[in-house]
Amino acid sequence: MKLFDVYPLNDITITKAQGSYVWDENGAQYLDMYGGHAVISIGHTHPHWVKRIEDQLHKIAFYSNSVHIPIQKELAEKLGKISGKEDYQLFLVNSGAEANENALKLASFHTGRKKIVAFEKAFHGRTSLAVAATDNPKIVAPVNETDNVDFLPFNDEAALKTYFQKNGTSVAAVIIEGIQGVGGINVATESFLQLIRSLCDEYGAVYIADSVQCGYGRSGKFFSHDYAGVNADIYTMAKGMGNGFPVGGILIAPHIKAKHGILGTTFGGNHLACAAALAVLEVIEEEKLIDVAKQRGQYLFNRLKAIDGIQNIRGRGMMIGFDVPEEIKDLRKKLFNDHFIFTGEAKPNVIRLLPAMNISRKQVDEFLDTLKEAIAEMKAAKEVEA
Ligand code: PMP
Repeated sequence: MKLFDVYPLNDITITKAQGSYVWDENGAQYLDMYGGHAVISIGHTHPHWVKRIEDQLHKIAFYSNSVHIPIQKELAEKLGKISGKEDYQLFLVNSGAEANENALKLASFHTGRKKIVAFEKAFHGRTSLAVAATDNPKIVAPVNETDNVDFLPFNDEAALKTYFQKNGTSVAAVIIEGIQGVGGINVATESFLQLIRSLCDEYGAVYIADSVQCGYGRSGKFFSHDYAGVNADIYTMAKGMGNGFPVGGILIAPHIKAKHGILGTTFGGNHLACAAALAVLEVIEEEKLIDVAKQRGQYLFNRLKAIDGIQNIRGRGMMIGFDVPEEIKDLRKKLFNDHFIFTGEAKPNVIRLLPAMNISRKQVDEFLDTLKEAIAEMKAAKEVEA
């Protein structure tokens, strides 16, 4: 049997990983500059994460949500403490799409309304509601098409106000990534997030902070929305939450109620997933990784700014993007040949950096030095051509 085709591959087979390094089947070493797509938060195969999962595996791996599962409570407590959202409730799922699917459904249960506001270039997942709120026609099947989602321009306060004045009382939810990931690393302005908060309050809509990619400390704060000093009604999480173990969750503010509806899942919150998620939080705490992501991200950002030949550097913490000008459009390919791995992009001229939060300073320097050399070489080759 053959594998079903998914998105374009990096032409490499990775068989071993540790920290921010991965190795292919021939033992060649690569630096993972996108953390397996923002999933690796505390480094590949972190010893504490391995041990936590291993210990749990010997006790119990899974039992359904039809019984008490104390490790879920342990996770909720720790998550509340580190995120500062102690009064929220935690609902555990298996992926980012499932988190957003449930968040949108819950918002609709809560408000009794149908309209969802999403933003241009947003990515929220590949299941029915999540994909309907995703601005990418290639992944929306005819069955997912709905009139219930309206896309507005990102960071456009006037457009959002006008929309709410007209339609505010039918809006169930506004869903927004604090920093758009797949869309190319676009940071929501603080005033835009504050406006969403105040319009949702005024019109009784639910503010959903999709923190699947930009959450769990990656931005240099636990949630990137924290930069704007706002509390969302629902936060969705996955990716970095398990550091490679599939686990997702939604944090629900105390006033949000499912009313007549029920949420559920078979595998969500299984013992192994909770052990993985707890291990991640313990390492974040022990190694102060949110501060590390902020400071090292700032260092990376500043050094990128000093490199001639790349444009529009943007992002926060360990979530940084930049544009590659036409004259060196093969930069990503060249860097891959130099053994740095990035995520595949819809737009080939964008490079997204999403390494583990604890990528070392030395590894960051290794990337930056190679980047600088690669640009210089490519430019020199162009001059020779000309
Ligand atoms: N939300 C965001 C912001 C994402 O980046 C992604 C995945 N790229 C998802 C949701 C969907 O997550 P998953 O692939 O785990 O379903």
